[in-house]
Amino acid sequence: MHELSIAEDLLAIVEKTAAEHQLVRVARLRIVVGALGNVVPEALEFALEVAGRGTVADGAQLEIIEVPVTVRCTECGTETELEDIAFVCSACGSVNVDVVRGSELYLDSIEGDTDLEEKAVND
Ligand SMILES: [Zn+2]
Repeated sequence: MHELSIAEDLLAIVEKTAAEHQLVRVARLRIVVGALGNVVPEALEFALEVAGRGTVADGAQLEIIEVPVTVRCTECGTETELEDIAFVCSACGSVNVDVVRGSELYLDSIEGDTDLEEKAVND
């Protein structure tokens, strides 16, 4: 389950970001996962819960946003959002397409509390 090492990487970023913004507790995490990233959102959620115990993100509410794969046709320029993984332009049927979205995996935002106030941090 490689989601665990992804979760550990994400938590390292969360802890660094929380420290930079003096957050004593992280309440919410929003993570963007592309459909090409081979990440199972439920597995990542579980991994984050387990790996997050004892960290500043312990008990944080998780929001995982799945981004479908989008390709751009190199023949006609049309962007197609893929429902299945068939890399074909929806406009002209060309298979000459570049992936423009769908392989992302990043921490989008974190929200938490400082001693005095609640604070949202967007990366
Ligand atoms: Zn096309």
